[in-house]
Amino acid sequence: MNKKIWLSSPHMGGTEQRYVQEAFDTNWVAPLGPNVDGFEHDLETYLNQNVFVGALSSGTAAIHLGLIILGVKAGDEVICQSMTFSASANPIKYQGATPVFIDSESETWNMCPEALEEAIIDRIAKGKKPKAIIAVHLYGMPFNAEAILAVAIKYQIPVIEDSAEALGSKYKGQKCGTFADIGILSFNGNKIITTSGGGALVAKTKEIKDKAVFFATQSRDDAPHYQHSEIGYNYRMSNIVAGIGRGQMEVLDDHITLRRAMHDFYVNYFKDLTGVTVFTEPNTDYYSNHWLSAILVNPEQTGGKTREDLRLALDAANIESRPLWKPMHLQPIFSNNPYYGGTISESLFQNGLCLPSGSNLGNNDRNRIKAALDAFFLK
Ligand SMILES: *Cc1c(COP(=O)(O)O)cnc(C)c1O
Repeated sequence: MNKKIWLSSPHMGGTEQRYVQEAFDTNWVAPLGPNVDGFEHDLETYLNQNVFVGALSSGTAAIHLGLIILGVKAGDEVICQSMTFSASANPIKYQGATPVFIDSESETWNMCPEALEEAIIDRIAKGKKPKAIIAVHLYGMPFNAEAILAVAIKYQIPVIEDSAEALGSKYKGQKCGTFADIGILSFNGNKIITTSGGGALVAKTKEIKDKAVFFATQSRDDAPHYQHSEIGYNYRMSNIVAGIGRGQMEVLDDHITLRRAMHDFYVNYFKDLTGVTVFTEPNTDYYSNHWLSAILVNPEQTGGKTREDLRLALDAANIESRPLWKPMHLQPIFSNNPYYGGTISESLFQNGLCLPSGSNLGNNDRNRIKAALDAFFLK
């Protein structure tokens, strides 16, 4: 049997173990230390917008702390992009608040600015102004930051920018994660760089970062004994994990180049095949890290072949692919939540498929993918 080709698997650069070894050698095996400071510094330099980064245990923890810092409490409403991974929305429920879901636009697959404004107007008319907006750069594609932020500013609602999939992506030359009041990153095992598990909160001010670190380390007051005036969390990144992150920062730009090359491979493969479109930047304002390459399969133009047929054919060749994120408003757990928009995210889910996109795929892998696609499309 051929080796499995994964959608997106960890890709170490080589220097990660040196930073981890340093942590062992100096006995910094703790949720603080020089690797944590160094990783935060590397991210701040990389993002290049005078931001303040707090390294945390996960991207989900970063969203949760973001909501806490913005004062989201039980009974509040928080607007969230429907087409996303559940980790964008779950922390709203951790706070006892209610997610209000918004449809996508077809250009970026991200939050539709018109549906967002419609939702805000209607929620205010119903008596509750939303406390925050969670917008997502899905698969590395930037959301329309100008339009989304204009609506947020018009109604004075803070934004959490879920940049878990978009480290290194840019909108109008500015890095994703730096547009909103609070940005979040993830370094989970399948992301563009990984620390095996981890995340970060990206703050516009030092006060916000300090607040996040305070909550993430059990909200200890400044006292010689353990004293607490607020509820705390154990959400800080460890110095061991941050060592992997420092090594990964050295290869981040290479990973982006390689992921973008995978996207080009698919663009080139599908360019003369009717019925399949590759998810691509709508114009030059957008620069995606192409964390995952994705396609839409229109069965009316492929002789009835669906994305599910393709997924099964690839699976038979030991090649992993996956349907797009199932929108949150269609999830059993959120089926009773308010939703604004049409059926764009629903039809993306119906026809969309993510293809192997890892920065560690080689020519041999691409040849196998090409052969499996050839066989399926009778090319
Ligand atoms: C991965 C991901 C998260 C959560 O990050 P973790 O580090 O896995 O907790 C949040 N939002 C999106 C869009 C993601 O893809």
